[in-house]
Amino acid sequence: MTTACRVCATPIAKASYEASAPALTSMMAFIDIPTLAYVCDECGHAQCADLPDIDTFYDKTYRISLESDDHDQIFAVAADGTPIYRTDHQAAIGLKLMDLPRGASILDYGAGKADTLRKMCRARPDLHPHVFDVSRDYVAAWNGWVKPEDQASYSVPDSWSGRFQAIISHFVIEHVAEPVAFLKTLRGLLAPGGRLLLSMPDVAANPGDMTVADHLNHFSIASLKRALALSGLALEVVDSAAFPGAFFIVAGRLEETAAEAVDRQEVADAAHKAKEICAFWKDATHRLDGAAKKFSGKRGAIYGSGFYGSWICSRIEADVDFRVFLDQNPKLQGSVHFNRPVLSPGKIEDDIDVVFVGLNPLKARAAIAGQAALHRPGLELVWIDG
Ligand SMILES: [Zn+2]
Repeated sequence: MTTACRVCATPIAKASYEASAPALTSMMAFIDIPTLAYVCDECGHAQCADLPDIDTFYDKTYRISLESDDHDQIFAVAADGTPIYRTDHQAAIGLKLMDLPRGASILDYGAGKADTLRKMCRARPDLHPHVFDVSRDYVAAWNGWVKPEDQASYSVPDSWSGRFQAIISHFVIEHVAEPVAFLKTLRGLLAPGGRLLLSMPDVAANPGDMTVADHLNHFSIASLKRALALSGLALEVVDSAAFPGAFFIVAGRLEETAAEAVDRQEVADAAHKAKEICAFWKDATHRLDGAAKKFSGKRGAIYGSGFYGSWICSRIEADVDFRVFLDQNPKLQGSVHFNRPVLSPGKIEDDIDVVFVGLNPLKARAAIAGQAALHRPGLELVWIDG
């Protein structure tokens, strides 16, 4: 099936990765569509196929962190066991990278509960906060610290055009079907000299992102530069180290469109990397299906109850006697995921025959090496990368 690149509109003849329905979303829910990932050779962008009825999905289904303050908010656990909250970290990175002028009007676009902006304003009470989201679910979380006239749901008021010295938009652009139109909208909201901070998954650092059904875009730096240039913005800062598996970028509003030369090598490298990740998923799917047959009827556990673990669950549960998820995140231990308990890895029972490792393959071996309970004789480990 031919599609068009979401960034540069070049036709893409065929998918680089295809898997039959169901597809898995970032909220660990299955939807009844096949997974299709495409790579654009012209700009180095990778993308998934459209979601059916995308507006309803975000208005009614996608309620990140609304029910729970903790669950989705922990992005890492420090060596001493202290959870590190995503929004604390995002706020600190934003303040560091953006160098905000005093009294700046700042907009959180696709804000959700806007915890990140609230924390930035707590550190910088001079900032003038505004919030926007495509749902009204978050209004209660905004009231009390954002003035009613500085809140918008579903559409942004015309009077906000050219108003903001700063816009932040965390983990939104990967969800939008038309990222160039999205960036043009943000540019139109920036005041002259205004700057935009975006965060998004870095598929090269976390290959699982390639098959997340509601992540329609998998940006490379090359495709991001192209998207920004097409929107009247220019990339100023890239930070791919502060937040594992993601990059944070700052872009400035261009006052005149200068045709920027495309770095062909950077584009070719990005497209090559994306195709390599698609090939990895093809192999991983094949490998997991084989392992499910090999361990048919055996008692199994999955290490990791995030995206990779959920994906493994969908591939093996018809064959393997799959009992339990293991997860080192203390906030998830004791919960139930796909009808199985989530336990600390140290609590794995003696009668488990096989553990499927559901972690980012770039980090999985180091993480498992430190788990003594998983190295007992007779316990088999299955890796998604072979
Ligand atoms: Zn393209």
